[in-house]
Amino acid sequence: MEFETVIGLEIHAQMKTESKIFCGCSTEFGAPPNTHTCPVCLGMPGCLPVLNKRVLDFAIKVGLSTNSRINPVNQFARKNYFYPDLPKGYQTSQYDKPIIEDGFIDIEVDGEQKRIGITRIHMEEDAGKLIHNEMEPVSYVDLNRTGTPLLEIVSEPDLRSPQEASAYLKKIHAILRYLDVCDGNMQEGSFRCDANISLRPMGQQELGTRTELKNMNSFRNVQAALEFEVRRQRDLLLEKDKVIQQTLLWNPDTGKTEPMRGKEDAHDYRYFPCPDLIPVEIDELWIDKIRKGLPELPDQKRQRFIDEFSLPEYDAVILTESKELADYFEAAVAVCAQPKKVSNWMMTELLRELKGADIDQCLVKPNQLGTLLNMVEEGTISGKIAKTVFFDMLESGKDPEQIVKEKNLVQVSDESELLALVREIIEQNPSQAEEFRGGKTKVMGYFVGQLMQKTKGKANPKLANQLFNQELSG
Ligand code: ADP
Ligand code: MG
Ligand code: ZN
Repeated sequence: MEFETVIGLEIHAQMKTESKIFCGCSTEFGAPPNTHTCPVCLGMPGCLPVLNKRVLDFAIKVGLSTNSRINPVNQFARKNYFYPDLPKGYQTSQYDKPIIEDGFIDIEVDGEQKRIGITRIHMEEDAGKLIHNEMEPVSYVDLNRTGTPLLEIVSEPDLRSPQEASAYLKKIHAILRYLDVCDGNMQEGSFRCDANISLRPMGQQELGTRTELKNMNSFRNVQAALEFEVRRQRDLLLEKDKVIQQTLLWNPDTGKTEPMRGKEDAHDYRYFPCPDLIPVEIDELWIDKIRKGLPELPDQKRQRFIDEFSLPEYDAVILTESKELADYFEAAVAVCAQPKKVSNWMMTELLRELKGADIDQCLVKPNQLGTLLNMVEEGTISGKIAKTVFFDMLESGKDPEQIVKEKNLVQVSDESELLALVREIIEQNPSQAEEFRGGKTKVMGYFVGQLMQKTKGKANPKLANQLFNQELSG
């Protein structure tokens, strides 16, 4: 029996504002516990919230960048529940009148484009944090995070595989980072996601019973957890067992999902409009002003990279995944006007050596990479030597010219110097020379290799080939 996977994501993104959503406290991460608090975000009775206008600006930006409708009137609502990290006893969120609805974004998976619907995006406040210390029989509460502005972005159940879910998540992440409304730091929890997943027999319209994977904080975890859940649910369905609707946690150590204690889904939040916050009206003028200030977004940048630099779609997708990477590419191309060469180096050597770290932390600056590639282009060094120079640059941050000079790596393009060596090698390898003359041109590789050994990789490969050909057939 064939099953179809159905996934919908709820993303929580912390907005990059200086102050909290309903008070003037700082949103800075990592301050000593409970130092960024005031009566409002501590939930003291009688305190009134005042909405941070920048949160609205940010939400509108995100709405416009996801092809969504900005509702002319939106309303905050109270989501009631008790938890020690929620001093008010309710979370101020939005319910039936969210700021944004009915959008979509396009994702690319395996070279194919797919449109994913966005149901709604609403504003809300974050809760505090509980700190459980296994060595002590107590839990601590840190309320610095209460009132940090969040956007919750809810997708339609349009995703059909863990891979699509990951691509969607990355795209939303990129959009928020391009807009500079969220720092996107997943380790610190500024960008996290709940993934809902179900299976249904191929062809069936009705959605299957879903499970919800809570609070995932890395792209890799999201994909791994969903892949596990696909297998687990399929096994259950094949054995005619039922999938139980429940909330699960991903355990990266065991590679399994585990049921969360407590019946999360039995919540009745008793939403009602927040009487302390009047409905927010947003007029066209405001929206237009924000639209005019929007930066170039990932899709537009990708298209421009294809048009302006003649990059293949594949390269353009990877290079525009983050704004920093795209900026790096453009800065390198400004020095070395060979976009495809720059792209190749970035996608292979550079990204591999970065091992997932931010490009901003790379010691090789884009102009230095451009200079290095120019040196190859001009024949100063060979492509192979360029790689060793590059590793040196990664560790020392030095300019390529300096490294090449210090280590005496300049390519030997002097014909007479190389010719002497070529003749010597041919003389020392009469049988290989015979093979070559007999038509076995593959031994050319052997000859050039010998020459590279003698010159410590510095022989100009093009000239080397030419000289061997000339001498062997001459
Ligand atoms: P809740 O408020 O309980 O989290 P929602 O109906 O708002 O539930 O849905 C939350 C997310 O779950 C949305 O992204 C939606 O697309 C997705 N979703 C809903 N039903 C299913 C299902 N049967 N299978 C997979 N995803 C689903
Ligand atoms: Mg949910
Ligand atoms: Zn406060």
